[in-house]
Amino acid sequence: MTVLLGCIADDFTGATDLAGMLVKAGMRTVQLIGVPDGPPPQDVDAVVIALKSRTVPAAEAIADSLAALRWLQQAGCSQFYFKYCSTFDSTPEGNIGPVAEALMEALGTDFTIACPAFPANGRTIYKGYLFVGDELLSESGMRNHPLTPMTDPSLVRVLQAQSRGKVGLVEHRSVARGAEAVAARFAALRAEGCTLAITDAISNDDLITLGAACADLPLVTGGSGIALGLPENFRRRGLLAKSDVAEQLPATGGLRAVIAGSCSVATRSQVASMQESAPSFAIDPLALARGEDVAGAALAWAEPLLQQGPVLVYATSSPEQVRAVQAQLGVAEAGELVERALAEIARGLVRLGVGQLIVAGGETSGAVVKALGVTGLRIGPEIDPGVPWTAALQEQGDAQPQPLVLALKSGNFGSVDFFTKAWSRLP
Ligand code: ADP
Repeated sequence: MTVLLGCIADDFTGATDLAGMLVKAGMRTVQLIGVPDGPPPQDVDAVVIALKSRTVPAAEAIADSLAALRWLQQAGCSQFYFKYCSTFDSTPEGNIGPVAEALMEALGTDFTIACPAFPANGRTIYKGYLFVGDELLSESGMRNHPLTPMTDPSLVRVLQAQSRGKVGLVEHRSVARGAEAVAARFAALRAEGCTLAITDAISNDDLITLGAACADLPLVTGGSGIALGLPENFRRRGLLAKSDVAEQLPATGGLRAVIAGSCSVATRSQVASMQESAPSFAIDPLALARGEDVAGAALAWAEPLLQQGPVLVYATSSPEQVRAVQAQLGVAEAGELVERALAEIARGLVRLGVGQLIVAGGETSGAVVKALGVTGLRIGPEIDPGVPWTAALQEQGDAQPQPLVLALKSGNFGSVDFFTKAWSRLP
């Protein structure tokens, strides 16, 4: 069995978002962190390679995306997907246009679409104009984005400015008439010499129609929304089983722990909630700065307790406490000290037999994943919107006493009882 759909995402959380969407649509999906050295994992319908190519120079984004494409081609994928943000985050130089055109050239295809629409999250496109909720893109908060300010709501103009080929538009009146009308519009645009087309979409039904119309395109580009309609194309061709087991993870045992490095509002209430029923250990950044073996102390504390149930290790503090620490140590230095300590604790906990681990905080998750030698994540059942359980794929040779499942939670995600309810979603 080969992989069907090969996806290249321009950042990590975007990759997770897309992978979750594909799992919901019935594809068994693995998210890989960068382009791997080895062969593809077994029993997978879709692979999402997470790059960091959104704001790097265009040449670098192209090189990384082409390397990902080559790996996905070797994995046997028959269709490819370039995923970017639903607010079309890019600079006048790119990277959406340049990467899309480089991928098209490598695949020997002369046409693709660009559809960042995600109506469920308020991103709709009408007459080529992108709306964020009720506002035009250029009137939304995106106009002040620190790296990719979006000041023109016309995606045709934005994409044209960063592309060599001609950009056309598939208007909503075609989309409303169904997949055949859209395919006819593709043909008409091609005849006019267009190589890229922005597509209107204002509802999930529109995304399904567009997905069906893209069945024969070697490359599709867009946000995660347009991925909704693609799995059905493979199913129609008998390549994908009708599946409600896409989110199934292998059964795992192992002890349970939570590591919290986020100081966001949601994480602070989740830490307080878990403290009512589970033992917890606070990490003191000032003790770390003094060179004390805080990680060693945390692990010695955790070892006997783990046998009785989940434990919590946290650096989570109030804004006042964080400011006081940052004033003494510096913002970046404090962050790094804490991340390094939590990553070391994660390694130690796994050595002590932890097989089910929740990590709170985006940067914290990055540090933990790196320390554990995690190269990819098989996406499992969703705990709360945007946060699935995942099974870790780890580097060969890394000491791995048992399979490891991870829930990597962005700081502000999840309900107040997230740390206590998450375990019940595991097989
Ligand atoms: P979020 O997803 O909420 O943004 P992150 O993990 O991305 O969480 O970022 C939190 C940052 O704050 C990390 O760099 C972490 O090391 C740092 N941090 C955590 N606790 C403290 C603390 N008590 N004092 C200072 N910095 C802290």
